[in-house]
Amino acid sequence: MTLEEKVGKTLAELGVSDAPAVEALFAEVRAAMDAERQELTSRGAADDRERDKLCKELRDRWLARKNGLMSLIDDNWLKKAVKELKPVVGRQFNDLRKASALMQVEELIRAIDSLRGRAAATSSAAGTLTDDLTLAGHARTTSTATGTLTDDLTVPGYRRPLGSIHPVTRVLREIEEIFLGLGFRIETGPEVESVYYNFDALNIPETHPSRDDWDTLYVDSKTLLRAHTSPVQIRAMEKYGAPLYIIVPGKVYRHDNPDASHSPMFHQIEGLAVDRDITFADLKGTLDFFAKKFFGEKVRTRFSPSFFPFTEPSGEVSISCVICDGQGCRTCKESGWVEVMGCGMVHPEVLRHGGIDPEQFTGWAFGLGVDRYAMMKYGINDIQLFFQSDVRFLEQF
Ligand SMILES: [Zn+2]
Repeated sequence: MTLEEKVGKTLAELGVSDAPAVEALFAEVRAAMDAERQELTSRGAADDRERDKLCKELRDRWLARKNGLMSLIDDNWLKKAVKELKPVVGRQFNDLRKASALMQVEELIRAIDSLRGRAAATSSAAGTLTDDLTLAGHARTTSTATGTLTDDLTVPGYRRPLGSIHPVTRVLREIEEIFLGLGFRIETGPEVESVYYNFDALNIPETHPSRDDWDTLYVDSKTLLRAHTSPVQIRAMEKYGAPLYIIVPGKVYRHDNPDASHSPMFHQIEGLAVDRDITFADLKGTLDFFAKKFFGEKVRTRFSPSFFPFTEPSGEVSISCVICDGQGCRTCKESGWVEVMGCGMVHPEVLRHGGIDPEQFTGWAFGLGVDRYAMMKYGINDIQLFFQSDVRFLEQF
């Protein structure tokens, strides 16, 4: 049976039913491939044109998308393999595919080599073409101009190392996951925001110090880069009404000089729950659940009074220090507690601005800095590291 006939049949039809038989069959294919390739390499061709024609024939026979030997092996052997043989057939096929790439690489090297001779002549005459890069470019032009080189002249690709997920994104997703599990949905909004949504609608008075352009980055007198994710609370209330359970991840901007704990751009996650009969107890229960999920079951939470214009009452949430378990250490400044977020019951004015009747609905909200969570989680002491795009730092995650 010829190779063509074999690849037209399934493994079952060929009587190949165990791993050793699969390996033997692939070894046979590989031997045929190598032999055909070597024959071509060692064979003399009258000129470049004939050589290119032969190379193309070999590549088409093996690699053509339609009815190439590789594609038939894929269709008839791999795809139709019985479940038990799939892994071994898959591995063998992968190896074969890698080997088949040689047919393209060799062609390229040879094509450029032959061009180098040609270009060297041109170069000595014109004195312009000097390096391989130019030669490769020249090769393509020549190919189109004269049609002597085949179209699928393939430059070996750059090796692209696999990336990894940025630590801030990783933490963002982890937090999102927890709240999605509680029935919250993700909502996003614009980073270039109006003064109305960033301040007015959130009950932040004209006189509030954060309105000063020292803290906020203004685009013009009515537009700014949002200083927090809270404008999305108003936008979501206007859009969906109540009841509403959302989290809002995103970038925010402040007029801060970069240092170890400040960045002019950082990430927040905001949470908002609006429904009938929502109380501070719901807020405490939810955030305690979240803290235990994120920081570990042993963590205790503590709520202390605070002030924000958009919540009333307002609170700060602290967790027992994960480093010293509440005993006191340098990280928690010997207090045993670390502040992790701000929260509170949504101010009635804010509900009204969102078009929700505060007589019928109540709500709670919280906000946290994602970058700081990532710093705590991974023991990073400088927020700048997240944004410097230094691969040596990023590849650790
Ligand atoms: Zn501590």
